Formats: sequence, C-alpha cells, structure tokens
Amino acid sequence: MRTKTVGGKRRSLINPNSPFTLSALETDEEEDPNPIYRKSTVWNEWVIFKQDKTKKASDFKGKSTYNTNPSRNKPCVYCIGHEDECSEEIFRVPFDEPNWKIRVVESPNPAVLRSLDDGFVLDGGEVLDGFGIHDVVIESPVHSEQLLDLTPKDVGEVFIAFSNRIRELVHLESIKYVQVFKNHGEKAGAAMSHSHSQILGLPIVPNNVSARLGNMKDFFYQTGKCCICDIQLEDLLIDSSTYFFSLVPFAASFPFEIWVVPRYHSAHFHELDDEMALDLGGLMRTTLRKMSFQLNNPPYNFMIHTSPLRGDGSELAYSHWFIQIIPQLIPTTGFELGTGSHINPVLPEDAAKILREVIVPVFAHERRMVGFLPPTKIVDYSDAFTTKEVFPTREYLLNWARAIGREHGFTVIIQRSDNGGLKKRIGRKTTVILGCERSGKYRQYKDALARKTGTKKCGCPFRLRGRPVRNGDGWKVNVVCGFHNHEVIETAIGSTYAGRLSGEEKSLVDDLTRSNYKPKDILQTLKERNEENLTSIKQIYNLRQQLKRSRLELEMENSA
Ligand SMILES: [Zn+2]
Ligand SMILES: [Zn+2]
Ligand SMILES: [Zn+2]
Ligand SMILES: [Zn+2]
Repeated sequence: MRTKTVGGKRRSLINPNSPFTLSALETDEEEDPNPIYRKSTVWNEWVIFKQDKTKKASDFKGKSTYNTNPSRNKPCVYCIGHEDECSEEIFRVPFDEPNWKIRVVESPNPAVLRSLDDGFVLDGGEVLDGFGIHDVVIESPVHSEQLLDLTPKDVGEVFIAFSNRIRELVHLESIKYVQVFKNHGEKAGAAMSHSHSQILGLPIVPNNVSARLGNMKDFFYQTGKCCICDIQLEDLLIDSSTYFFSLVPFAASFPFEIWVVPRYHSAHFHELDDEMALDLGGLMRTTLRKMSFQLNNPPYNFMIHTSPLRGDGSELAYSHWFIQIIPQLIPTTGFELGTGSHINPVLPEDAAKILREVIVPVFAHERRMVGFLPPTKIVDYSDAFTTKEVFPTREYLLNWARAIGREHGFTVIIQRSDNGGLKKRIGRKTTVILGCERSGKYRQYKDALARKTGTKKCGCPFRLRGRPVRNGDGWKVNVVCGFHNHEVIETAIGSTYAGRLSGEEKSLVDDLTRSNYKPKDILQTLKERNEENLTSIKQIYNLRQQLKRSRLELEMENSA
C-alpha cells in the first residue's frame, strides 16, 4: 500500500503538493479527471473512481433521517420506564440501576433463535437450524437522543457494553463469529428510531469474514506485514486519538466511507480495555458528528469487523479489527449487485480533506441546554396523575391536572384539543392532550426570546390525555407519559398564576406583534384559542415591551 497504481502510472502519494498527485489534478477545474481503478487489499476488490463533473465532493448530501421516522417522538419499548414492555434484559449499565444509561436486551424481532442451540451440528450440509444470538444494545434511555448526542464517555460505555457482551458469548461453544452493527435511519434498516445497535452471534463464519481474513493473510505472506498496520495515512487521515485513527480508505467502496482503526495491532475487538474503549468513544463521537454535519444527517451503518472467536491462533498475526462507517448517499445499482465491485464518485483523499476540515458547530439541541439542567434523577409522575375519578366537566379535569402539576413543581398546559368530525359542528371537544409547559420543539429564535421571558421549551415528553366517558357524562384522564426530560424542582408554591402566558402563547404574541396586530386583537386571538385564558390587556402591553427589548438585545448579540 506504499505506492499505488493510478491510471496505469505508478505515482507516489507521499508528497501531497507534487503536481502529479490526484488532489492536484482535482483542484484544476478545467480538468475532467479520467476514471481510475483502485484495489482494496482488505476486500481484494477493485473500485472504480469516477468523479461527477457537475457535483463536487462537498456537494454530496444525504436525505436527512431527522424527519423520516413517524414515531420519532412517541415513547417506545426501548424508553426508560417501558422496560416491562420490552424483551428480556441481558444486562444494564450501570449494573442494577433503575436510572440506567445502556441496556442490552434480547432482540424483540430476532433474525436467529437462541432456543435452537440443542444439538447444533455443522456437518457440511446446506440447511441448518436458524440458531444464533441476536441482541440489541439500547444506547440511551431517552427516545430522542442519538449516539452522537451522548458524551464521549457515554459513547465509550456503549463500546464497553459491546465487548462485555462478546466476552460472554465467547463461552458459548457453538458461536463462531459475532457481528456488531448499527443501522441509523429507516433507509439504513433501523426498525426503531430509538438509538440502538445490534449484536449477532452466529454458529458459522460468514464468507465475507473468511474472505477478508484470507486477503489479510495473503498480504501478510507477501510482505511480512499486517495490511492495516501498514496503511499509509498521508492525505487519507481524518482525525486521531491516543489509540485510534479515523480515515477514508484508499479504495473506499462508498463515497465518504470512513474507517476507525486501532493504532496498535489487535485481532479481536473484544480485547480492548476500558481506557481504549473510552478513547474510541471520543473519536467515534467526533467522527459521527463530522459525518452527520457535513452530509446532512444521512442514514448510515457501522460495522465492527473483527476476527472469528475460534481461530487456530495463526490469524492473530495478520488480522486487525476495525470499524467501517458507511453513510447512505447513493443507491446500490445493478452494477454493484452484478459484480460486487463499486463505482465511487468521491475520491478518498477529497472526502478525507473535507472531513478533516469540517468544523461541527454546537448543535441546536445543545444550545437548548444553555440554562437548562438535565434531570439528575428521572422521576415517574404517573402515579400522581393516575385516578379513577370521573370529572364532571372538562374544566374540572383541567384544573385538577394543573393543581397536581403545581404541587409537583411543573406547569401543565393544554397541548392540543381534538374535535371529532360531527361533534365539531356541535362544538364538543372529544379529547384534550395535556403536556408540560416545556413540551414542544425548541426553536432557536423564539426560545432565545423565551429564555429571557422565562420558559424554555425542550421537547418534554410528559403527556396526559383527557377524554369524555363513553356512554355517559363526565371526563376521565390517563397518563400517556409520566416522565420529564428536565429537572423538576418540587415546590409547594408552583409557578402559575392567573393570566400567565405559556411559552407557546408568548411566541404567538411575538408573531402577531411583528405582523402589526394591535394589543386588543392579540388578546382576542389568545382568548379564542384558549377559552380559559385570563390574560389582561396590561399583560399584553408588558409582554410586547419585554419582547421588543429582548429582540433588540438579540440583534445586538448577533451583530457583536
Ligand atoms: Zn424510545
Ligand atoms: Zn495490524
Ligand atoms: Zn414514557
Ligand atoms: Zn416537563
């Protein structure tokens, strides 16, 4: 891998400023570079690099996974507090802790069954019982949190959980290979939007794995070197940490494919110790953030490529584990399916340069954290709001819910009132969804205002549903989600008082003010929206003043 055959000529990539290097060719805009072949040592496969005349490497973007999953805001069986609805737990981190950070569970939809272990024999036949171990690693207790949102240490803990689970599977004699992988986004195969990865223990060594080991072995016998230890980083390097490199491989099969490689030779992923795992967590987090920011949060997969559990030991010299990250940017075509080769429109050194230089700004949800205390203790308020009581009217129910909320130190607001089709015409509301005043999506501008005026939205999941009793008079309430995602300070006094505007209402006042509505009309709009609104015209005047002030402050901040 020291010199590379490019377009028929041998060129050195040692000096990136040499006029003969590919990057020099690429910067010449007049030039339409000819396609080239590069061969991957690890996969023993040719890749065709054919740059797109009309599309620069920096123009490649994925279809954001942010909005694609319809259930992304609904709590699921992987959420904290929903353990009972989930499949069997194997272990959790920290051990035995109700406020867990990571849970390893049996897959709710296993590809292979652990129960079929009975008398499993590999006898050279072509059909075997579908035995295997299929586990899921739930990476966060919080539904909306993605792997790259976690702290470097918590990402490291996920890798420690992987290796601890593999160390357990080593004791199962019938398991020959363990594949750890992650699907992020529906397009990349994720069935659940709650952040998770998967561990599949197989009674066979898949052909891809034995082929990879064979290729590494061939290189070792030809050169006396491990082909991963021998990678010439040069302009392929993205970042490095104490124990790892991130890089774009010389013959990357996919645009912006990334490898995270241990600096020191190691055949098995599960050999890594905690210090290395935490270091890996930091580099993985940086890498995923850079990739997601540059490529518009694309669907992606990552795979840990390691060695089989039961080799004869000879593979230890030439096999070197690594992580492969593949963002989904271009579709797989008949060419790939037919040949197993790939056409990659982005040169690895161009992708590496972009990823090396991209600066990830602080994400919106982290800005939200300004002045925002995450909960130190997750409390379930379900019991406080669980009652068999039938309230005579909707208003009774609302007042009751508000009072219970106040008692516990948070403000309950009406989030949504649904009108049934026919009933709408006769003016009867069928359900009312109540939430915490901090529910709702964080919006940078409006919440910057809200921060100054007192309410910070943070997508709090707390939900109650009120609905009329079937075949009778009165209203009932049930708890949809009893948790908050922010600190709730228990107080006997509470923060509500007559006429106080919710964050949402403040945003509305702001919008209407900027659309030149008169205070009188704004008040009218508020009362039409919410029949229980007690706001006075004086409060509207005051709020308009406040909003104006903070808008000025914001403008000054932004222009400073
Ligand atoms: Zn969930
Ligand atoms: Zn090596
Ligand atoms: Zn919940
Ligand atoms: Zn809340």
